Amino acid sequence: MYDVVIIGGGITGTSIARELSRYKVKTVLIEERDDVAMGATKANSAIVHGGYAEAHAKLKGRLCYKGRTQFQKLDDELHFGFDPIGSMVLAFDDDQEAELEKLLENGKLNGLEDISIIGHDRILELDPNVNPDVKYALYCEGAGVCSPYEMCIAMMENAIHNGAELFLNTPAIEINKTEEGFDVTSTDERVFSGKYVINCAGVSADKISALAGDDSFRILPRSGEYMLMVRGSGDAFNTVLFQMPTKMGKGILITPTYHGNLLIGPDAVNEGIADRDTHCERLLSIYEQALQTSDKINIRKFIRSFTGVRPVSSTDDFIIKESEAVPGFINVAGIQSPGLTSSPAIADMVVHDILPKAGLELVENPDFDPNRKPIISRKILEPMSEAMKKVELPLSDPNCYVCRCEQVSRAVIDDAMSREIPVTTFDGIKRRTRAGMGWCQGTFCRARVAAVMSEKLGYEINPGFDIEHSGVNRVGKNEIVDYIESHLKDRE
Ligand SMILES: Cc1cc2nc3c(=O)[nH]c(=O)nc-3n(C[C@H](O)[C@H](O)[C@H](O)COP(=O)(O)OP(=O)(O)OC[C@H]3O[C@@H](n4cnc5c(N)ncnc54)[C@H](O)[C@@H]3O)c2cc1C
Repeated sequence: MYDVVIIGGGITGTSIARELSRYKVKTVLIEERDDVAMGATKANSAIVHGGYAEAHAKLKGRLCYKGRTQFQKLDDELHFGFDPIGSMVLAFDDDQEAELEKLLENGKLNGLEDISIIGHDRILELDPNVNPDVKYALYCEGAGVCSPYEMCIAMMENAIHNGAELFLNTPAIEINKTEEGFDVTSTDERVFSGKYVINCAGVSADKISALAGDDSFRILPRSGEYMLMVRGSGDAFNTVLFQMPTKMGKGILITPTYHGNLLIGPDAVNEGIADRDTHCERLLSIYEQALQTSDKINIRKFIRSFTGVRPVSSTDDFIIKESEAVPGFINVAGIQSPGLTSSPAIADMVVHDILPKAGLELVENPDFDPNRKPIISRKILEPMSEAMKKVELPLSDPNCYVCRCEQVSRAVIDDAMSREIPVTTFDGIKRRTRAGMGWCQGTFCRARVAAVMSEKLGYEINPGFDIEHSGVNRVGKNEIVDYIESHLKDRE
């Protein structure tokens, strides 16, 4: 019997698992996909938000800053990649200054001390490539960027290292109340008995809650599309650049990513279903809006489009509480933005407040080790002539660059495959090592990575078995470049 069964291996589930592993609590996390970080956690803006945008009256407003302030320590321990580069909400109109004042006031209510309104000259000093028509900005010094899937992987690796268990490919399909707690059954008829169940199932959280007997809320998926530019293009900007927020979200942003790409997006479209396709029309609109922030973006640097789906709740807030209808069943639902930033505070709230109140005794785990070694670190790429010498080494050589664009060595792939979480897909290697994330998007390295994986796993890995072949239709490189260039030309 487990003390706690967590359903869902995104950033909320894995952060809770890691926090629980500080204590002598028998925890299992079950995830329906073949890896952790396969939901909203892998497809978002990756911003560690300031904490001024969500109203203080909402839980998401009160938890964001509390989460943000834990990132540096977490990154020092877990090495997933966090850089507090600062963020600016840009105002191009004198009328918008009042809206910035409101955000400032709300930020202060939420506890922030590192925000201020700055003027044109200071904005351009901080980020010289911002549109010079800018008038004011709300500057938050401690906001930043992180690598969200690396964070989620790091959380789970460390949780397992400290005693938690993980079952992948294990969808929860039935939840029954028992005398001692709950039986959670997965598709393969395996039963996970636990005293408490924590529902962290993202866009499926309403369905999981209903399975347990609580149908008090709904999840309304809201998609957002992005354009990602090649590594190095992020160097044109120093901070996260937002436009004025709207009712649907924080608006289109331009930001360098932790590893130096440039990210543009997201838009916000309410969908009945969680659609992860990308569309030329939406990407064009995103690109045109981003041009208002800066004309120093270049569509020819585009490498990839993707869609993230926000699990917006019918209460339009995070729902983090023990169910009134089903005691012992805890919902962590509606975790839309800023859920990534808030995740450490969400884990605190569940582990240190809700579970003890529900009766769980927390006894310290004397062997808890907070540290986890990184798989990769941020790096400057070698000149291609040097890199090619390593590309040409035999694949069996630990120094061989299996991936040419991102210069990922065989030793790094070996490391990724010998960690606490089993890795069985090219995508899994990609998220851990960046192999396949470069200019050629895996054209060169996909078969090489599959060869290394097959050798290590002892069975053939199909290099085509990844998201590209899973029914998600993404707009390709040439298609979007042609589409945007022709539209921009027509409008000249
Ligand atoms: C477009 C977009 C932009 C965003 N930008 C930011 C940002 O910049 N900063 C920020 O702080 N936040 C941002 N967010 C929010 C953030 O990404 C989410 O709040 C966070 O990732 C939610 O994590 P989660 O673990 O709750 O959900 P998810 O990551 O979706 O994880 C849920 C998991 O549950 C699993 N699951 C579902 N059903 C079952 C089942 N039956 N059995 C077992 N497992 C199941 C899923 O496979 C999935 O792995 C953004 C979100 C989106 C979509």
